[in-house]
Amino acid sequence: MSRPIEIESFQEKIFIQRIIGSVQGIKESPTVIAIGGIHGNERAGVNALIKVFKTIEEQDIQFSGNFYGISGNIAALAENIRFQNVDLNRIWTKEEILKLHLEDDLEIESQEQNEIYTFLKEILHIENGPFYFLDLHTTSSDTQPFITISDSLNNRKFSSNFSIPTVLGIEEYLEGPLLTYLNEYGHIALGFEAGQHEKEVSVDNCIAFLWLALVASNCLQKEAVPKYSFYQHNLSLFKEQQVFYKIDYRHSIKPFENFKMVSGFRNFQKISKRELLAFSNQKEVVAPIDGELFMPLYQPKGDDGFFIISKISRFWLSLSRFCRKIQFHHVLKLLL
Ligand SMILES: [Zn+2]
Repeated sequence: MSRPIEIESFQEKIFIQRIIGSVQGIKESPTVIAIGGIHGNERAGVNALIKVFKTIEEQDIQFSGNFYGISGNIAALAENIRFQNVDLNRIWTKEEILKLHLEDDLEIESQEQNEIYTFLKEILHIENGPFYFLDLHTTSSDTQPFITISDSLNNRKFSSNFSIPTVLGIEEYLEGPLLTYLNEYGHIALGFEAGQHEKEVSVDNCIAFLWLALVASNCLQKEAVPKYSFYQHNLSLFKEQQVFYKIDYRHSIKPFENFKMVSGFRNFQKISKRELLAFSNQKEVVAPIDGELFMPLYQPKGDDGFFIISKISRFWLSLSRFCRKIQFHHVLKLLL
């Protein structure tokens, strides 16, 4: 196991260790597992997990199921960088996991992956499901909080507990994110994007999300959570009703491409076709379609310049739910 390290994060000295905390409740299930800092420059989730576990201990909060908090890329967290050699959230493929079994001399991110993989396997073995995975992130651009999920019925159902925008299907554009790997085993897995990397409010949003998720998963009763309605109110300030989005376009950054986003764009900002968004090798990049801008990149590391998303109507949502029930996967892809 990686040795605990002390860092300064959000004006606090914190200890980062693989297992941030664990609680075993009076019932054997459900089991909630939250991960903070799988990207090392996204520390808000780690600060939030430390705070939530401290509150649980200090106030002796009674749990029904189990709750684990784990750190992501510890070596990168220590340096406040997204990753050292490879993105730890892009190597959860069958080939890379096979490498963990076969190779002795793993490179730095694979060592981190190996520890997380071993720990997750152990939890899945010793604890009872249902299992809920929560992956805490922040973004380089300014944003309101939002959720990302692979589009499955149980993910949609769980994300409906939160009155914040939910973006479906991002995994189709990404290679090897952890949540997609977990989804393939049928577990519920939500990505929570809390706000901008450096903003204190991102820590507060992660804390609110964690408490709400512990209640939504039935690990905790509402009444057991100090300030439950405050957290609920705080997160739902952003949107009154939950809205689902689909991804219509992605600008991927090629190797050696010099990509620069035009400054000042916000996540979910409405944009029009042909609007100037960025420069790629000094050439203008304009929006190919109307929509809402999603995850514009304002940091040096990353493969996605921006996405363009649009709202999914309730009609399509219920139609796709019906299609999924009768396992009409391919038709669904054509429709959405
Ligand atoms: Zn991230």
